[in-house]
Amino acid sequence: MRAGGSDPIREAARLLAERGNAVALTGAGISVESGIPSFRGSQGMWAKYDPMEYATLHAFLQSPRKVWEMLSEMVSVCGGAMPNAAHKGLAALEGMGVVRAVITQNVDGLHQAAGSRRVIEYHGNLDELICVYCWKRYLMRERWTPGAVPLCDCGEILKPNVVLFGESIPWLAQEQAEEEARTCGVLLVVGTSAQVSPACDIPGIAKDAGAAVVEINPEETSLSGNVTDIHLRGSASEVIGKMVRLFQDPNMKSPKD
Ligand code: NAD
Ligand code: ZN
Repeated sequence: MRAGGSDPIREAARLLAERGNAVALTGAGISVESGIPSFRGSQGMWAKYDPMEYATLHAFLQSPRKVWEMLSEMVSVCGGAMPNAAHKGLAALEGMGVVRAVITQNVDGLHQAAGSRRVIEYHGNLDELICVYCWKRYLMRERWTPGAVPLCDCGEILKPNVVLFGESIPWLAQEQAEEEARTCGVLLVVGTSAQVSPACDIPGIAKDAGAAVVEINPEETSLSGNVTDIHLRGSASEVIGKMVRLFQDPNMKSPKD
């Protein structure tokens, strides 16, 4: 099953309509058009911050003030970002019964802001802070101010409740994500380089269970050409926007029919 027709987006939409039960797996690329840089690539965060120095639990425990230089930038950028046409398009597809859930590696909350209801946050989110010493939790908006490092009542530096390298995936999110992958008809993989483990295993789990994998990414990834059945090369907003318009066409059979 390859994108052989003249319009691969139409071919992918037909697959979604026929199989139903689509689930989206999203990564940093879907939020690039909202002004949030991805991690990899020349414009990415890693060009500025070495992940081994800034994004591991070990680094946070050793030098939390240094890691907060990167975290502060993330919190500011994500806090000011608005959902783009790709987030809104996935929410619209959920409303039409085409997409059943979104598994996101992102921590920016933009899927919920766009109106998606079933969102599995695989790497947590930036809404909350947690003390890694006494486990007390706080709301980011109540405890963090730009330029300052947020402190727990016990005096320790707080960590955003996101998954750093070296931390486990929240068990419920991992269970739910794997269940969605095992039971979906189509997995739409949007804007992820599929290099972060174990999130990068989700497309293979879906594929092994019989799902078709449709990738939306302007670039090739490790999935393209092996796990991916249809690779739609383009920006997430452009491709998902076109897909939504196809489903709004009364001639397109809805998976609910
Ligand atoms: P990544 O940075 O490794 O890869 C981003 C991918 O998106 C690349 O393959 C790139 O080609 C693609 N891309 C770029 N622009 C795109 C567009 N307009 N439309 C579609 N695709 C586009 O991201 P990752 O695989 O998600 O891994 C990085 C990790 O860091 C993840 O855990 C991620 O959630 C986290 N992160 C999150 C945010 C956020 O919450 N917005 C931002 C940066 C990183
Ligand atoms: Zn504490």
